[in-house]
Amino acid sequence: MNLKLNSSNLPTSFNNVIIETNDEVTKVRSNLIDLCSIGKWMEEFSILTATKWNVRSSVPKGKYIQCKKHFVCHHSSYHKVDKESNKRGLSKNTSCKAQVKFVIKVDTVSTRKTDPFVKNKLFGVITIWNEHNHSINTAEALRYLKATDDLRQTFEEYLNDGMTMTEAIRYHESVMTMMNCSAEDFANARLNPTYRTVQNWHEKWRSTHLGPRTGQGVIMVCY
Ligand SMILES: [Zn+2]
Repeated sequence: MNLKLNSSNLPTSFNNVIIETNDEVTKVRSNLIDLCSIGKWMEEFSILTATKWNVRSSVPKGKYIQCKKHFVCHHSSYHKVDKESNKRGLSKNTSCKAQVKFVIKVDTVSTRKTDPFVKNKLFGVITIWNEHNHSINTAEALRYLKATDDLRQTFEEYLNDGMTMTEAIRYHESVMTMMNCSAEDFANARLNPTYRTVQNWHEKWRSTHLGPRTGQGVIMVCY
């Protein structure tokens, strides 16, 4: 299963420039600054591509680089028993070779001279091998859009990110579209909540974060 990446697969909270993209590899420059921003980038990327990754290695500050981090697909053979010796037959190991490497360059006079992207604050060098040897659009991928409580949490995160209710619904549907969800999935309230459900979640989220619309709590949130 190979997903040729384009800009719609890349996290929107970062500035990304695709340097190269083909069936095998995608090279991106991005305004990453540290390990924390790498984590955030990867989290969004996982959602947008319905993939899941494990950290293979993480190297903090060095002389020539700010830091680097290496992720492998959670279906890789790294740190897992091989399929034959897995008695329960539940191993995630399909020896998938998909991986993502991050290097963040240091901002110095010399790197600015030699690398025009550093000058534009795109310190992150991301190399993505997105060739998976397993399906990424099946029921397993759908577990990311888990049911009820998890789904509600997902929506709360959208709201925390500053989306309106309508934007959150649209965004969620666009994630589902990207994951090639079927018409049945869209009709399934466990994956795609009804407007009424989202409205309830929004009301509760609103009263927790902004206080009630009427009564005593209103004074607390006047600003
Ligand atoms: Zn994989």
